[in-house]
Amino acid sequence: MTDILVIGAGPAGLTAALYARRGEKEVTVVEKGAFGGQMTFSPRIENYPGFESVSGTELADAMVGQVLAQGASLEPDEIKSIEKTEGGFRAVGEFGSYEAKTVIIAAGAKHRQLGVEGENRFTGEGISYCAVCDGAFYKGKRVAVIGGGNSALQEAVLLSEGCERVTLVQNLDYFTGEQKLVDTLKTKPNVDFITGTVVTEFLGETDLTGIRISGKDGERVLEVDGVFVAIGLVPQNGFASGLVSLDKWGYVPSGENTLTDCEGVFVAGDCRSKGIRQIATAVADGATAALAAIRYIDGM
Ligand SMILES: Cc1cc2nc3c(=O)[nH]c(=O)nc-3n(C[C@H](O)[C@H](O)[C@H](O)COP(=O)(O)OP(=O)(O)OC[C@H]3O[C@@H](n4cnc5c(N)ncnc54)[C@H](O)[C@@H]3O)c2cc1C
Repeated sequence: MTDILVIGAGPAGLTAALYARRGEKEVTVVEKGAFGGQMTFSPRIENYPGFESVSGTELADAMVGQVLAQGASLEPDEIKSIEKTEGGFRAVGEFGSYEAKTVIIAAGAKHRQLGVEGENRFTGEGISYCAVCDGAFYKGKRVAVIGGGNSALQEAVLLSEGCERVTLVQNLDYFTGEQKLVDTLKTKPNVDFITGTVVTEFLGETDLTGIRISGKDGERVLEVDGVFVAIGLVPQNGFASGLVSLDKWGYVPSGENTLTDCEGVFVAGDCRSKGIRQIATAVADGATAALAAIRYIDGM
C-alpha cells in the first residue's frame, strides 16, 4: 500500500507528488493520457512565473523530471473506479489496482469541443479554449469567439481590448450569459454578433484562415486569424462519483483547503469547484492537497 495515490498527472497532480515526496511519503501518480495534462496542448505559455515563454510540453517535461528525481512512481493507466477499504482506498484501473492510505483527485477538466472538421488539427495552432492564456498572441488580429454564455462573453470582452475585430458566434438566437456583459460588448466598435449560427468547419492549409458558419441565411465563410471556443468545460471526475459528492456540473465541491466530503480524499486543480482554472492555481492546489494528505497520514 502506498501512502498517497494521485489520480492525474497535470500540474496539480505533479505538484502534489513533489510535495508528497518532500514530505517523505510514498506516492504513486496514475495518468491516463499525456504526463503533464492539458498544458501539453499549448505551444506557448507566457503566464507561468519563472518562464518568459515556454512550450507546454517543455514545462510538462520539467515537472515530470523533477517528480521522478524525487522518487515518485508514475503509472500509465486510467482509473475507472475507487472505493474505501479498511486501511484506506482501492482504485481500480484498466491495467491494475492501486491501494493507498489517501487519495488526491487531480483529474482536471476538458474543454468541450465543437466536434467539427479541422478542430483537432488546429487546436493550439489557431484554435484556443482560453483567452486569458492565449489572447495576447492575437493582438491586432481578427478572432471569433464561439459560445454565448458568461465564459464566451467574458472572453470576448478581454479579446476586444487587443484584437482588431472580435466576432461572437452563437448557436442560439440570444445570449445565455449576463445582459450586462452583452451591453458592454455592444458599446465596443470592434465587436460583431452573429446569432442563430453554428460553426461547421475550421478552414486552412497549414494556418487557420477562417471558419465555415451556417445559419438562417445559409452558409458562408468568416475569415479570422484565431478562434476561441468557449462552450463549457467537462470535469473528468466520473470515476470518483461513488466516493465523493460532485456538484451539478461534475466538479468536486471543495474550498482552497482541498478537503472533500470523504475523509482521506483530497481534490486539486481544474476538477475542483473554483473560479480560476490555470496552471498557477492548479499548482497551488497540488501543494495544499499534498500537505493536507501528509497531515492526515501522520495523524492516522
Ligand atoms: C490549449 C490549452 C492552453 C492552455 N494554456 C494555458 C496557459 O497558457 N496558462 C495557464 O495557466 N493555463 C493554460 N491552460 C489551462 C491549464 O492547462 C489548466 O488549468 C491546468 O492544466 C489544470 O491542471 P490540472 O492538473 O488540474 O488538470 P489537467 O492538466 O487537466 O490534468 C489532469 C490529468 O488527469 C488525467 N486524468 C483524468 N482522468 C483520469 C483517470 N480516470 N485516470 C487517470 N488519469 C486521469 C488527464 O488525462 C490529465 O492529464 C491551457 C489549457 C489548454 C487546453
